[in-house]
Amino acid sequence: MEIEQKALFIIFGGTGDLAKRKLYPSLFQLYKKGILKDNFAIIGTARRPWSDEHLQEVVKEAIEGDEAAVSLGAEFASHFYYQSHNVNDTEHYVTLRKLAEKLDEKYQIEGNRLFYLAMSPRFFGTIAQHLKSQKIVTTKGYNRVIVEKPFGRDFESAKDLNDSISKYFPEEDFFRIDHYLGKEMIQNIMALRFSNNLFRAVWNNRYIDNIQITLSEALGVEERAGYYETAGALRDMVQNHILQIISLLTMNMPASYSESDIRREKIYALKSLKKYSAVKVAENFVRAQYSAGDGQIGYLQENEIANDSTTETFVAGKLFVNNENFSGVPIYIRTGKRLTKKTTRIDISFKEMETSFFDSKKLGRNILTINVEPEGKVFLQTNIKKIGQGFDLVPSLMELQLNNENVVVPEAYEKLLLDALLGDATNFAHWEEVAYAWKFVDSIRKAWDDGNGNLAEYPCGSMGPRESEELLERDGHQWVFDGE
Ligand code: NAD
Repeated sequence: MEIEQKALFIIFGGTGDLAKRKLYPSLFQLYKKGILKDNFAIIGTARRPWSDEHLQEVVKEAIEGDEAAVSLGAEFASHFYYQSHNVNDTEHYVTLRKLAEKLDEKYQIEGNRLFYLAMSPRFFGTIAQHLKSQKIVTTKGYNRVIVEKPFGRDFESAKDLNDSISKYFPEEDFFRIDHYLGKEMIQNIMALRFSNNLFRAVWNNRYIDNIQITLSEALGVEERAGYYETAGALRDMVQNHILQIISLLTMNMPASYSESDIRREKIYALKSLKKYSAVKVAENFVRAQYSAGDGQIGYLQENEIANDSTTETFVAGKLFVNNENFSGVPIYIRTGKRLTKKTTRIDISFKEMETSFFDSKKLGRNILTINVEPEGKVFLQTNIKKIGQGFDLVPSLMELQLNNENVVVPEAYEKLLLDALLGDATNFAHWEEVAYAWKFVDSIRKAWDDGNGNLAEYPCGSMGPRESEELLERDGHQWVFDGE
């Protein structure tokens, strides 16, 4: 599958943090593997007046940590070109087109173009419009546009944003990044569910008692305070990453491993999310802000944060996907900043076994844990016999061997860039998925904005407010992951 690709990338926001930290190193990985070899070029554009040489130095710095950069770095960087560009200035697109045409010819790229919009979404519409009107899109090869999050701040703004791009790029050429979908362990959800009879048989409301999803961060708002104030944890993490994970966990088995069949089932799962009345939102969702603790300042003391801000830095909730297999199974979610550590994990807790063979009170539940980060691992908690006399039971963790080929696990961005080169949008968010996710999130947001549900507090370095524990305790559960 990994054959050499011919492509011209135009990265809008080429001087930005994302380009340096993620895009340039990932493109280098594709270069190392020979997927990008001779017939490719990358134009970085942004407002700053950089030269080609300066961008090439920045690219070399971005890949410095990689041993292969010593021998391959200079040659790789020589494929980078810089164009100072104000996205609102039509003249700049004319220059950009000329450069694109020149590079297309020089590297024999045959008109394949990927436009990566790594900058504020408020510019997406104008960029898409200019790409078309100034004929930077080609007629010879493909033209694909890749956009970063955030994709809107509610359904209406997401729809406007979507319309402003889809006027010029059809859905099959429109790649909305949710980098969680590029993570190896998130992609493993489908492998676990649909390639193992053992799991397939029990992946439903007859056997699963509850699902818990935790996306915790140790950091605070850092440099993103301005954006975060307008977003909050619900929009920043739940609308995209968490709801995408829920769709993969609860969707019905697609008819085939194809983009359209998988999308259909994901959309159906998101459409089946149970909506709450405003009063029920207050009962089933917890929102909170971090306060000083563990040597860290509270959210309200952070730079650029209003001292009466009500933006939530933590959210926990109980959701239901009312489809055939999952109705009745509570899905507990939580995400937040300044929690004990950075973790992404899914704990699937199976029902207690009813048996007269053992004293059921002594039986631990089976729990399947998909540890996405920091380490990609899957564990299954089982009951085994305690060694020695008698027949006592002890819980034991079975670890699934995931990397038995001992290969280096590629970064999410590397895989997503390759998918985009191959024209495979399976691991990107389809518009209908985004739309249903926003509608769900908007209903919670609205209930909060109308005064339902208090804003709680939690000290930095904890796993959130007490209310998050109570959410599960009310149902006789507790969080499997205690934050350690
Ligand atoms: P950044 O602020 O570091 O970079 C923004 C880029 O846009 C810069 O290159 C800047 O020069 C350029 N720019 C701004 N206004 C311009 C204009 N009028 N004309 C031309 N260029 C202009 O931002 P970033 O962190 O790289 O993020 C880029 C996008 O990716 C944002 O939408 C962000 O939400 C998203 N994103 C970033 C990360 C990350 O880890 N940095 C993660 C997820 C999503």
